This record gives sequence, C-alpha cells and structure tokens, in this order.
Amino acid sequence: MSDKNQALFERAKKVIPGGVNSPVRSFSSVGGVPYFVRNAEGPYVWDEEGHRYIDYVQSYGPMILGHSHPAVIEAINKAASCGTSYGAPTEKEIILAETIIERVKGIESIRFVNSGTEATMTALRLARGITNRSKIIKFSGCYHGHSDTLLAAAGSGVATQGISGSEGVTESAVFDTVVVPFNKVPEIDQSIAAVIVEPVAANMGLVEPDSGFLQELRKACDSSGALLIFDEVITGFRLSSGGASSWYGVIPDIWCFGKIIGGGLPVGAFAARQELMSHLAPIGGVYQAGTLSGNPLAMAAGQATLELLGKAEYEYLESIANRLVQGLKEAISKSNLEISTPKVGPLVGIFFSDKKPSNFEEVKPIAENGIYPDFFHGMLKRGVALAPGPYEVLFPSLAHTEKLIDETIEIASDVVKEISPIRT
Ligand SMILES: *Cc1c(COP(=O)(O)O)cnc(C)c1O
Repeated sequence: MSDKNQALFERAKKVIPGGVNSPVRSFSSVGGVPYFVRNAEGPYVWDEEGHRYIDYVQSYGPMILGHSHPAVIEAINKAASCGTSYGAPTEKEIILAETIIERVKGIESIRFVNSGTEATMTALRLARGITNRSKIIKFSGCYHGHSDTLLAAAGSGVATQGISGSEGVTESAVFDTVVVPFNKVPEIDQSIAAVIVEPVAANMGLVEPDSGFLQELRKACDSSGALLIFDEVITGFRLSSGGASSWYGVIPDIWCFGKIIGGGLPVGAFAARQELMSHLAPIGGVYQAGTLSGNPLAMAAGQATLELLGKAEYEYLESIANRLVQGLKEAISKSNLEISTPKVGPLVGIFFSDKKPSNFEEVKPIAENGIYPDFFHGMLKRGVALAPGPYEVLFPSLAHTEKLIDETIEIASDVVKEISPIRT
C-alpha cells in the first residue's frame, strides 16, 4: 500500500482550498483522506493507489449509465473533433431540447446553462420577472445549488459543513428567502413569486414527499399566483423518463435540471411552457446568458445518455434499488444497529435509526449520530465507495449488476458487525 492519496491530498491543499473543488469531497464530515480517482469504468472507480471501489457516488447522480459508457465517450469524442465551443447555436442544442420536451409532460421550451446552481438561480429570476413579486419560499434541507438567495438552510454539503447558509451571504441576499419545513404546505401570500422544492428531497438523505404534499403545494401556489418550481436536478431522468413531475402527477410551472442531462459533463437547464419562457431575453426582459451554455460536448453526452434510458432501464434500476434496500435491511437486522432505508423508484437513502424522518429537523439528529462515518469507512476499506457525508443518497447505476449489489450487501453485513450503536 502506498500513501499516494495522502501525498496528493497534501499537495492539493497547498494549491486548492481544502484540497478540493467542492466541499463534500474533502471527507471533512467523515474524517480521513479522500481517495484521488485515477479512472473509472462502469460501476467502479480506481484510486491513484490502485484500489478499486464499487462506486455509489457516481458523481452524485449524473452517471446513471455507469462511468465511461462507450456510447457517451464516443459521442463526446465525435463532438470534440468538431470543435469544443463556438459562441453560435448548434443543432445539438435543439436535439437535446427536443428529447427533453418529448419526455417531460408540460415542458415546451428549455434553456441550457452550465450547472444546477445556474438553473435554479435563473429560475428564481424568471419567476420574479414574471410575477413582479420578490419573495421566494424554499424548504429546509432542500439543496438548490450555491447561489446566494438559495444558500439558506440548504442540505448536502452545507448541512455537512454545519453552517446554516454561509459566511459572505448578506442578510439582504436572503432577505426575500422564506425557509419552511419540508412536507408541510406553507402559507403562501401575494408577496411570494415562487416556491422551489426538490419533489423528492435527496440532499438531506432521502426524504419522500408525504402523500398529497406536492398536490397540495400545487393548489396553494395556484390560489396565490405563486409559481411552483421543481428542482429536478437529481430526480429528472432518474425517477422515470418524465422525472418526479410525471412520477407524482404534479406539473410545476418551472423545472430545473442538471446532472443526468449532461452525461457527466457540466450542464444545467431550466424549462417551462412557452408563455413563461418567453419572458427570457432575447424575447423578454429577464436577462440570462452564458459563454459556454449549450456546450456541444455536454449536449452530445447528455443526448447519448438519454437515448439509452428507456422503460426497461428504469425497471432495472428500481429492481436493483429494491435488492439493495432489502439486503441492507436484512444485514442490519442481524447487527446491533437500526436502519431505515427510504426508497423512491431507484433512489435510495440510508438513515441509521428505526425512524424514517420526514423533514430536515428530524434528519439532523440521525445524520449526526456518528454512525455514518464508521459505516462509510468500513465500506471504503472493503472496496465500496459511498458519498463521504450522511446527507447524501446512493446512486446505483445501470452498470451495477445484481451480483455487485449482493457483494455490496455482504460487505455491509461485515461492516455493521463492527459498529457499536452506543455513542457518547
Ligand atoms: C446538485 C444539485 C444542484 C446543484 O447543481 P450543481 O450542478 O452542483 O450546481 C441543485 N439542485 C439539486 C437538487 C441538486 O442535487
């Protein structure tokens, strides 16, 4: 065994804050040294020391086909050979737009940006521009990227860092952000431009919307004239080809996408019916732009990914998610630990508690009970990479075979035997 990861981490820390370009990657909430990835293929990543991991991070969601899928790599190579960015429109943007519009009921028009953060940030601007109202409602524990307005009580890395919001975000930046608990329909008055929600919360572990919650939210928005924004950056093309809106039969006014639609390249998008999108420049007065937006490599990778996602693929993903959840439950029932494993379609979360939390307040004490870091490191040592933080979900991909799921469960059985549920 070499100490290459350690050496790289030290070197990285000298030139990159905390050694990472996104905080969760630093292992700050689980302790230890991050593995530096050398390459990845299918369900696996290899680190610079040559260790192989069964990967459930999958770049936090984009790699639904698994890593380095030949069709995606070929699409990227082919696109790259024609140039990498032009500052002029391309047919590739139309093709991906048409693909998304065809699959997600209610969308008529879409604009591509470079990240999920940009998508939600601009969706809010659009909603404010359309309604001429200033306030927005977000749910505690829902993560919508790191724009100032939305960095209030966010989940994921923000939760992991133990900061509510962030230094550097001024009071005036979040003055119009109203934070309310998930799974409870808030009071929505005439000052509210939009309500933004992760239809399935997947950045505070996995928290499913209670039955009727999204439907009631839709009604409450309608009666107050606020726009409903679904942040489908994780759920889009993951829950089903129509995403969460089709899964739950609730049509928002504005959708936000990212992750899967870029096939592993930087991308984001927001979408709505024509009438709403026509408020955007150059047609309307809401400004939004991007030098690299609709980047041809990202469009090609996204299109290649979506083309490989059909009914059978979603059924398979759900079946291995079921297998994983059942297996984990059985493994843990034989240990001293308690577990609840919320699952929506192919999305899986793990809470080390017999309770299934329904909002961020309920999630926090479970996520912080100290068991996850032990589980994480036990798994990693035995070749399974989970996200290095208790607020993330698992992302089994189409490249994860049933055999690999079973192998993961066996490893988990060994790991949980070593973990004491007693915390001081
Ligand atoms: C990842 C994520 C974002 C932010 O996307 P980035 O591409 O990281 O900026 C926004 N919303 C949700 C629900 C996400 O999971």
